[in-house]
Amino acid sequence: MISPVALKSPSVPLRARNEGPMTSLSPKNTVLELHLSPTQISLDDGGNINTGLRIYTDGSKTERGVGAAFCVLTDVNITHRWSTRLSLRNTVFQAEILALLKAVEHAVSLPTQQLTILVDNQASINSAANPKSHNSIARKIFKLLHSHPHIRVSWIKAHAGHIGNEEADRLAKEAAETENFPETPLELPKSFIKTFLRHKMLATWQMAWDDGDTGRLIHNLIPKVSLHPINWTRNEVLFFTGHGPFPSFLHRFNLAETSFCSCGEIGTPIHYATVCLLTTSYHMAPPSQQHQPIWFRRVANNSTSRRKIHNLLHFLQRETSLFRPDPN
Ligand SMILES: [Zn+2]
Repeated sequence: MISPVALKSPSVPLRARNEGPMTSLSPKNTVLELHLSPTQISLDDGGNINTGLRIYTDGSKTERGVGAAFCVLTDVNITHRWSTRLSLRNTVFQAEILALLKAVEHAVSLPTQQLTILVDNQASINSAANPKSHNSIARKIFKLLHSHPHIRVSWIKAHAGHIGNEEADRLAKEAAETENFPETPLELPKSFIKTFLRHKMLATWQMAWDDGDTGRLIHNLIPKVSLHPINWTRNEVLFFTGHGPFPSFLHRFNLAETSFCSCGEIGTPIHYATVCLLTTSYHMAPPSQQHQPIWFRRVANNSTSRRKIHNLLHFLQRETSLFRPDPN
């Protein structure tokens, strides 16, 4: 059987800073880690426990909802039932751990007696046994168990015919499936919040990208924002943004005397990729005037065309002077 909760040995005392030379350490420097004893919380099958009060917990998630429940078994009779519905955004783990907390709180409210809480979910037992769990409900359970050592928690095999376990399962499912069932608001799981914020952020970014004034050439090629890198080479970026060694661009920023290519036409990216007499080996079929955006998109999405663009830019950068009109 799996050893349930490792007994942590006291951690090695650490010297405080500025303590001066190493002296003998007083006991107050020793940090004792809290733990629950393996007899109090166990992952061994508690199916044979049939004395004392038994509380069975369960959580359930179906397409229609999430539910948590526990029931109390005295001898062979169910004497108390509790269940609640959670938001559909909550996880089944949250339901399991909430059910365990409610069961422990109920146990605390009862007169001290032999009492076992039986849980068919190992993950929630492990969390409850960890005083440093990231889950705040799990830490609450740990504190309650630590201060009430008569309350024991044990794993139990699900669907093994234990009437308490079957009843808790039924109650949790009923709460999950019943609309208008009393709900317990619970903080949403981190995974949900992360996804939610990412969607929000992307939507905001998308709106800014759609409504912006800058980068319209790129907006045509990449209309949808994404967190995935697009893997363009530097040369491809120069071409698709138009911010490269093109007279049309250089002239705009006073880096060239004219926007004309030495062949006599305006030196735009598309000029060099389709018609310039000096770059014939890199040519592709030219677009008709009104279809330029479509042409750019097709080129950007075709690996052969992009290879050509890459080589064209390499050539343009190597032979800059060839494309400048002779000043004389
Ligand atoms: Zn030209």
